[in-house]
Amino acid sequence: MKAAVLWERHSRLKVEEIDLADLESGEARVRVLASGVCHSDLHHINRETAFQPPMVLGHEGAGIVDAVAPEVTSVKPGDRVVIMFGSKCGTCHYCHAGEDYLCTAVLPDHPRFTQNSQRLTQLLGVGSFAEYVNVNASNLVPVPDEMPVESAALLACGVTTGLGAVTKTAGVQPGSNVAVIGVGGVGMNVVQGAALSGASRVIAIDLVERKLEMAQQFGATHMINAADTDPVQAIRDLTHGRGADYVFEVIGRPETIKQAYDAARRGGTAVVVGLGAANEEVSFPLDELMRSGKAIKGCFYGAVQPHRDVPRYIDMYLTGRLKIDQLISRRFRLDQVNDAFDAMVAGQVARGVIMFE
Ligand SMILES: [Zn+2]
Ligand SMILES: [Zn+2]
Repeated sequence: MKAAVLWERHSRLKVEEIDLADLESGEARVRVLASGVCHSDLHHINRETAFQPPMVLGHEGAGIVDAVAPEVTSVKPGDRVVIMFGSKCGTCHYCHAGEDYLCTAVLPDHPRFTQNSQRLTQLLGVGSFAEYVNVNASNLVPVPDEMPVESAALLACGVTTGLGAVTKTAGVQPGSNVAVIGVGGVGMNVVQGAALSGASRVIAIDLVERKLEMAQQFGATHMINAADTDPVQAIRDLTHGRGADYVFEVIGRPETIKQAYDAARRGGTAVVVGLGAANEEVSFPLDELMRSGKAIKGCFYGAVQPHRDVPRYIDMYLTGRLKIDQLISRRFRLDQVNDAFDAMVAGQVARGVIMFE
């Protein structure tokens, strides 16, 4: 089978034949039909991360169950599924508390991909830039026939992270003022989630005019191009001089995280959704942090409980409340995967999706 392999960091992916291991206990084999290309895939190309090349990237996939290990009953061959990432050991403190996304179990270090006996890392236990993947069957959430597979794929990361940041991590209330710094694939869903939550102002900030125009279609009430405007001052100007109740940073850079903190009102909340580098830090004046009563929260994977939240997001999609199709600006074949990254870096797409047939 074919997969896009990252052989070393800072290089192009190579689409090659690789081998897939036999199913192990608890696993299902999924024929991948669509996989979104997410900014955090790019981080694994450009930065040192916990996942080592050679590696198959991709963590926003959906497809059809091809086979399951004998004891697996939660899905069966032929089921259409979205492939969620992360572990759910079921026995740690966080799994017991219903905070699956915080599960402390380490993903087993036995990649299911090889080439000539050389092991290839399976990013986040998924590696969906491959025609087939073996994954933990409990990470699969069924998808109804009426939902296109490429839209379902976006539930595996962008949609779930953005919506969850608003509704679960922040708990945005109706009438709130919300600002979103960075409106790519995830940020666009923060905008959408804020609008769905009844925020009175949803202020979108980006450097790319096209994305700001798109943010308006997803519910932004105000658009600020940070290339020519100071976003902190602009947010204050739009919120009675106070700052926003919630400011979401969806980039993962120290400068923009500091902006999110500065643009939050006294007692407001800055939510860090963007994935930053392990060796970068942000600092805040301590007296102001205490006196202002501001909160800074991290948001991992939209605080998702996959089997509780994803079916709700699917229902919101099916009833027309949640826009997902409109996020997909371009489709690519697997052999065009590098073009998909180029388009993302150039700001040409909200989401590019690799289609496998
Ligand atoms: Zn992602
Ligand atoms: Zn656990």
